[in-house]
Amino acid sequence: MNLSSPVTTLTRIGAQRAQKLQKLDIFTVEDLLYWLPRSYQDLREIYSVSNAPEELPCCVSGIVAAAPTTSLIRKGMTTTKVRVVDERERMEITFFNQTYVRNVLFPGKTYIFYGAVERKGSLRTMTNPMFEQEGKRHFTGRIMPIYHLTAGISNFIISEAVRQALVNCGRSLVDPFPEEFLRAHELMQIGRALQNVHFPQDFEELQKATRRLVFEELFFLSLGLSLMKSRRVEGTGFLCAPKDLREYLDTLPFALTNAQLRTVGEAMADLCSGVPMNRLIQGDVGSGKTVVAAACVWLVAQNGGQSALMVPTEILAEQHYQTLEPLLAQSGVRVGLLTGSMKAKQKRDIYERLELGMIDLIIGTHALISDGVRFHNLGLVVTDEQHRFGVGQRAKLAEKGRGSDGTMPHVLVMSATPIPRTLALIIYGDLEVSIIDERPPGRQEIDTFLVGSDKRQRLYGFIRKQVEKGHQVYIVCPSVSEETALEKGTMTAAELKAVEEYAAELQTKVFPELRVGLVHGRLKAKAKEQVMSQFAAGEWDLLVSTTVIEVGVDVPNATLMVIENAERFGLSQLHQLRGRVGRGSAKSHCVLVSDNRNPDTRQRMKVLCGTNDGFQISEEDLKLRGPGDFFGARQHGLPQLRVADLSGDLRVLQEAKEAAEALLMADPTLSRPEHQPLLEKVRQLFDKNSGGMN
Ligand code: ADP
Ligand code: MG
Repeated sequence: MNLSSPVTTLTRIGAQRAQKLQKLDIFTVEDLLYWLPRSYQDLREIYSVSNAPEELPCCVSGIVAAAPTTSLIRKGMTTTKVRVVDERERMEITFFNQTYVRNVLFPGKTYIFYGAVERKGSLRTMTNPMFEQEGKRHFTGRIMPIYHLTAGISNFIISEAVRQALVNCGRSLVDPFPEEFLRAHELMQIGRALQNVHFPQDFEELQKATRRLVFEELFFLSLGLSLMKSRRVEGTGFLCAPKDLREYLDTLPFALTNAQLRTVGEAMADLCSGVPMNRLIQGDVGSGKTVVAAACVWLVAQNGGQSALMVPTEILAEQHYQTLEPLLAQSGVRVGLLTGSMKAKQKRDIYERLELGMIDLIIGTHALISDGVRFHNLGLVVTDEQHRFGVGQRAKLAEKGRGSDGTMPHVLVMSATPIPRTLALIIYGDLEVSIIDERPPGRQEIDTFLVGSDKRQRLYGFIRKQVEKGHQVYIVCPSVSEETALEKGTMTAAELKAVEEYAAELQTKVFPELRVGLVHGRLKAKAKEQVMSQFAAGEWDLLVSTTVIEVGVDVPNATLMVIENAERFGLSQLHQLRGRVGRGSAKSHCVLVSDNRNPDTRQRMKVLCGTNDGFQISEEDLKLRGPGDFFGARQHGLPQLRVADLSGDLRVLQEAKEAAEALLMADPTLSRPEHQPLLEKVRQLFDKNSGGMN
């Protein structure tokens, strides 16, 4: 048996149990070893029959007084009774359908029984206890691990399997950390840590063991991310000469908020510093990040440089193009658009103009990192909605702007998902951060409600009322496949049918008097754009859509967002969706429709009803789902955290991050022989999730 052996190599785990364990994602012996207890029960105290407390599960030591006897109660039901004693009292134990106990409980021997003692008349009794021979201490007389379970798998089955795994493989566990490293960071050796996290000697050892595992996990997370990150750019960035910002501000139809002004100031200082900018702008949906980015584009253009703005979807690229083109044209900045669905000829035309320097700002999707794209003088890379991009893509685009003399473009990242501080610390460790924590004036809070579909008639009434007031309504239906893919057209046929039928039903049966539009990811970019712009122009009252509108068009007249099957979305995503309303001056609402009764799920959605603060929501989201899920592991390549809790393990995180940094400082490519196991492990972890670290 070794770590990668299937769990069936353990005794008492056959094919059936193995299949059940798969539901917990446990396939191998190693998976089992990392299936950590969710809590512990202190069973170190062992009572005698006469002094055991009643009603509470505890360990009771007793001598078997006579051989167990079995009787058939009715068809398919046997009881096996056994009497145990101490020097003062006796206790009768009943086992249902466990005749095997006759063969393992011997008169005259002492056993420890774990169960609740009950009194029947003058007799103490216990039913179906776990037991083992005195002195064995596999689970009695110690701190017992309590595991998350699944149907057909008891806590005892898991703890027994883990015990076997530790006995057989505990010693062959190779510690990825060199001995010296363990000492320097006061970390327990891996074998001992796993032993103690499952079967702690005492609570102090448990705490040390947990710390070791949390440290390891966060260490590899930081290490992997540092290796993936664009190497910290040294040397020069595209140098801008300062310009009077008022020239740009005068082209805007509104005054910037203080938070926007501050952020513009911070970014401008970077652009004029000669060192490549690496800045993250965090701001809630609607906080006005675009005009801030545009200010940077403007300054770079005034200095003869090009900018690239990369966004995750075509529709967003188009929207940005439509707002930025007329705005920047006022300052003579030439704006172009490049998306994957454009005709080859159009693309070639754009490529040519880019290379000749006839475009100052190119807005596009992933198409921007394709091979044909060459810049004349790329000075600034902006990515919007960054969490949708893999960590490497930002670097890839920036790389296109590397000058022959080694100069690098500035990088500006806009995140519409406020990222919890803890996570930002790791993921954006190499970025300066600006926060836009103020909304443009006149915005109202969005009131959010959670309703079941039994309230549908009332909901329809509410929708009608909004339209009567001259407003518009979004109705979002989740498309799971659309959400998990980066490009359009990935929605399954069944999902497409469902949303089409739903829209048709609303139009014909519920709202025959209203104009119901439909937009989804299977539509061609042109068709999508057409529907969206019709909606923006007020030609539809209701817009049924899949998630394509998540980062979509700005329609200030839309005042109600209805989200069907809301439980299928992550909190941050729901918050993003909701941000599509409340963009005008009228009161806006969001209705989450869900029949899901799971208390966790309901609590998750209630978070949205309670607050409009994106930072608070993302903290909750992270707490509830873990960072892998938070970003969508596939897109982001972040390994799942099994032990660490990023909402609580902040101090260990800091330590682990520093240790990872120090290590990379000393050995930037982890090429020293003693660091091979570390490199192996980080590769393994990240490859599993992202399909490659390069
Ligand atoms: P996000 O941060 O979500 O990207 P946008 O940049 O799309 O937000 O801005 C949302 C809307 O607010 C846009 O219509 C934009 O024109 C408008 N806006 C941005 N800044 C201001 C401001 N200071 N005053 C008024 N409206 C603003
Ligand atoms: Mg935006």
